Amino acid sequence: MSGSPVWHPFTQHGLGEDIPLIARGQGAVLHGADGRTWIDAISSWWVTTHGHAHPRIMAAIRAQSEQLDQIIFAGWTHEPAETLAHGLIEITPPALTRVFFSDSGSTAVEVALKMALGYWHNRKQPRQGIIVMEHSYHGDTIGAMSVGARGVFNRPYASLLFDVTAVPFPAEGAEQATLDALEAACKAGAAAFIVEPLVLGAGGMLMYPPSVLAQMAAICARHDVLFIADEVMTGWGRTGTMLACEQAGVVPDILCLSKGLTGGSMPLAVTLAREDIFMAHWSQDRADCFFHSSSYTANPIACAAAVANLAIWRDEPVQARIDTLAALQAAELVAIASHPQVVSTRQCGTIAALDLHADASGYLSNWAVHLNAFGKAHGLLIRPLGNTVYVMPPYCITAEQLAQVYAVVLAGLDRET
Ligand SMILES: *Cc1c(COP(=O)(O)O)cnc(C)c1O
Repeated sequence: MSGSPVWHPFTQHGLGEDIPLIARGQGAVLHGADGRTWIDAISSWWVTTHGHAHPRIMAAIRAQSEQLDQIIFAGWTHEPAETLAHGLIEITPPALTRVFFSDSGSTAVEVALKMALGYWHNRKQPRQGIIVMEHSYHGDTIGAMSVGARGVFNRPYASLLFDVTAVPFPAEGAEQATLDALEAACKAGAAAFIVEPLVLGAGGMLMYPPSVLAQMAAICARHDVLFIADEVMTGWGRTGTMLACEQAGVVPDILCLSKGLTGGSMPLAVTLAREDIFMAHWSQDRADCFFHSSSYTANPIACAAAVANLAIWRDEPVQARIDTLAALQAAELVAIASHPQVVSTRQCGTIAALDLHADASGYLSNWAVHLNAFGKAHGLLIRPLGNTVYVMPPYCITAEQLAQVYAVVLAGLDRET
C-alpha cells in the first residue's frame, strides 16, 4: 500500500501502477518532483492545446484572481463570462446565439440533453427519445453514461441508465446502414441525436468522414430532431479545424465544448444553443425556466483563462501550428505503419491512431497496460485505449519531441521493459 489516500480516476490501484508526482509542466513536457521528465503525448487527457503553462493564460488567471474569485451566476454576472460568451458567439456558427456555462464535458452534455427535452416539453410537444451512435463516449455522469456506449466502464450502474436508440458506427463501406438506422429512428420520433463529430474519442479514436456527418445532420433536420454536437474532444483545433463540424458545413442545434476551452488550464464547459431553444425557456412563468446550475457555474477565473485562450487563437499562429503538427503526424504514421505489430493507422487533423494486433480485445487488453507502464518508465505520457494507440499532443510539440514519442512507442511495441 502506498502512503497516499488519493483514489485516482480510471486507475486500478490493485495493479501497483507507478503514479508519478508531477511538479511542473512547460509546453509539451511534464517535470516530476523527482527530476524525471515526460513528453505529454495525449495533452493530459486531450485538454492541453497550446502547451502547459502558456504565459498568457497563466497571466490571465493571476490577474483575475486578484479581482473576483467567484460569484453566484443565477441572476448575477461578471466581465470574464460576458467577454467569453461574446467571443464564443463570434467564432461559432451564427445560428448559435446562447451560451450556457458549466464545469466539465459531462455536465455540458447533461445540459444539452436537458435543453433538448426542455425545448420539446415547453413547446407542448413532449418528445423524450435520444438517438446515439454506437461506441460513443459523452462522459461519466449518469445521463452522459446513458447516451454513451455500454460496457465494462458502466456495467455496475446499468440499472441507473436510461434507454436510448443506438445507430451503428459508420464504418468504411457500411455508412448507408448508419444513415438508414438514423432515418428510421428519427421517423419513430426523438427529441435529439447526440454525436461526436468526425472522431469518436474514448470509443477508440474511430474516425468517419465529413460527408457522413453532413448527411446525418440533414436527416435530423428533415425530421425536426435536434442535432447535438459533442465537440468536447474534437473542438479547439483537434481535427484540423476549430470545430470538426466546420469540415462538414454542419451547424448543430446544440454544441458542447470543454477540454480545450481554457487551453486545458481550468475546468470549464459551455453548451451553446439556437435562439429558439433559448426562447422555448423564455416566459413570464418561472416553471418554464432552465433548471440547471452548479455552484461554480462560469467561475470568473476559469472564464478569464478561456478569454485568454480566445486571444491566443486570435493573435498567435495556432492554425499554422495545427497544420504543421498534422503533417508531422502523417509522416510518423507512415514510418510506424510497417511495424509487424501494427494492423492499421488513421489520422484526423492532429490526432493519429494505430491499431495493434490483439492478444486480448477491448479496453482491458494487455497492450494498454504494457505501453502505459512502458511510457511512464521511458519519459512518455501515453495511455492507449485497448489495442489502439493514439498520439494527440499539444500543438506546441516540436518535431524532435514528436519523433521521440514515436521512438518510445516503437520500443514499447518490441516489448522491451
Ligand atoms: C472527455 C469527453 C467528455 C467528458 O468530459 P469531462 O470533462 O471528462 O467530463 C464528453 N464528451 C466527449 C466527446 C469527451 O471526449
